[in-house]
Amino acid sequence: MSELIDISPVISPRTAVWPGDRAFSREMALALGNGDNIDLSAIHTTVHVGAHADAPSHYAPGGKPIDQVPLKAYYGSCRVLEVTIPRDHRIMPRHLPDEVDAPRLLLKTGTFPDSERFNTDFASISPELVDFLGERGVVLIGIDTPSVDPFADEELLAHRALLRHSMANLEGLVLTGVIAGRYTLIALPLRIEGADASPVRAALAPR
Ligand SMILES: [Zn+2]
Repeated sequence: MSELIDISPVISPRTAVWPGDRAFSREMALALGNGDNIDLSAIHTTVHVGAHADAPSHYAPGGKPIDQVPLKAYYGSCRVLEVTIPRDHRIMPRHLPDEVDAPRLLLKTGTFPDSERFNTDFASISPELVDFLGERGVVLIGIDTPSVDPFADEELLAHRALLRHSMANLEGLVLTGVIAGRYTLIALPLRIEGADASPVRAALAPR
């Protein structure tokens, strides 16, 4: 098997999270350096840290939490497309540079370039694009920004469009250096009971 391409940012206390959300921290309960027999630590974090999958319960009353979403959207044939889009704009179907010939689509925008510095003017996804992809059988859409909706959109139009099509999402991916093309995606969420999202370790295998 060929090398896996890691498309997840490092998770650390420096990882930029949504303004107001809980940043990642890790506390040592035991430490070899202190003479304990093991290193043992606990973490505290928003579940939307780094590369993550939203659950429908994040944005819809009665939506499924992450432990109840089917896993199949998060593994399999995937197309990566590079989109030329100004910051703060929503990606429309006409912005796609190529056909979508896989059931999973990752969009590389380059509009959130530093996972340790939160910029609010990242590009996002239009509900029109979600409808367009849903009609073509796409089951997952991923993006290299913190949200599929613009920073200031409280209506969450793209998230709500995901719900209409039962489409999964991935946010916070790092696609720097990933060449547009066909891959196998693996990005499984953790089975956290009742949770509104889960971090994923997202990776691509060239096909
Ligand atoms: Zn989201």
